[in-house]
Amino acid sequence: MTIVTETVFTQARLADGKLVDIRVRDGRIAAIEPAGKLPPNGNGLDVGGALVVPGFVEGHIHLDTSFFGDRWIAHRPCTNGFDVQERVTFQAENMAAAAPMAERARNQLDLCITKGSTSMRSHVMVDGSVGLKSLETILDVRDAYRDLIDIQLVAFPQSGILKSPGTPELLDQAIALGADLVGGLDPASFDRDVTGHLNVVFDVAQKHGVDVDIHLHDAGTLGAFTIEEICARTVALGMQGHVAVSHAYSLGDLATDALGKIADLIAASGVAIMTNAPGASHFPPVARLRAAGVTVFSGSDNIRDSWWPYGDGDMLRRAEIIGYRSAFFTDEELSAAFDVVTAAGARALRLEGYGLEVGARADFVALAAEHVPQAVVAVPQDRRVFKGGRMVADKGRVLR
Ligand SMILES: [Zn+2]
Repeated sequence: MTIVTETVFTQARLADGKLVDIRVRDGRIAAIEPAGKLPPNGNGLDVGGALVVPGFVEGHIHLDTSFFGDRWIAHRPCTNGFDVQERVTFQAENMAAAAPMAERARNQLDLCITKGSTSMRSHVMVDGSVGLKSLETILDVRDAYRDLIDIQLVAFPQSGILKSPGTPELLDQAIALGADLVGGLDPASFDRDVTGHLNVVFDVAQKHGVDVDIHLHDAGTLGAFTIEEICARTVALGMQGHVAVSHAYSLGDLATDALGKIADLIAASGVAIMTNAPGASHFPPVARLRAAGVTVFSGSDNIRDSWWPYGDGDMLRRAEIIGYRSAFFTDEELSAAFDVVTAAGARALRLEGYGLEVGARADFVALAAEHVPQAVVAVPQDRRVFKGGRMVADKGRVLR
């Protein structure tokens, strides 16, 4: 016998201001009707006019390297300007003295869930020093959180691919073990071989039929050149819609003409761009890229780790940061910042059944806000989070 579970959420305010009732059946939205129209059943929840929005998409995080909930670890600056390889060395030293990885990952997940993220993409380090150990740990944690949040894992070559012996094989094994995507890292400045690096990444992707998400910090024309190479591969392999470039700082360095050209190329290649609008760095021009048709999504990236001490796991605050740094002022612009952490994120992660519509998965957040633009600037903390129609967080606590 199939057990049907049904809940009616009454007095929900949608982004357009309409008050509605939402009927959820077996984890999906079965009906949305003007408030008061749906016949009440025994299993109802009055959300009291709260703004109800789709669950936030945390599109880039590192569950294995955060120290959130652990003791405070003071940031150590690079000795001669930002240097990815030196930061990786600092990270290894900090990780050796940190609380167990599973405990730190759970702390970070609880934080993200209470803030309203219902889907996530996490990069997990795979290299010669940690092998597949971090991935094994995070796969177990993902299992334990299956009813609370959907998690995609990227096999992330934090120490490069060609420079880190055995990494090509480890990336292949990581996918076989359960990672969902293959990652990359600064093919030019780290491995000093864009073609060789991308050969490995895209070979693994093709072999296993998985998506790609590459960290690219390289600035200026070097970063832009790498993006062009990634776009060319994507198109040549018919992987449009299956490839993302994370950070892509270089897009913030280009003159107007060069930017226009590469924005069109990225859009035509169906490559998504992830930015967390980090302070003091040039970052991708969100409005310009969106206008060209590029999917721009976001994530917290590092939270209290060896890379920086910031981060609160709150994708609504991330929308505010993106809007603030992009000088978004109008309601339309603020709504665009919100789209980056919701619908655009869902497109980049290819989430099935995302959104507040009949047939979609009942993953949503009830916020104390008037409407979306006001939510983006006010970042209200009074939130209830629902996954498959079940309340999974309230008042900053995860409900298990
Ligand atoms: Zn990252």
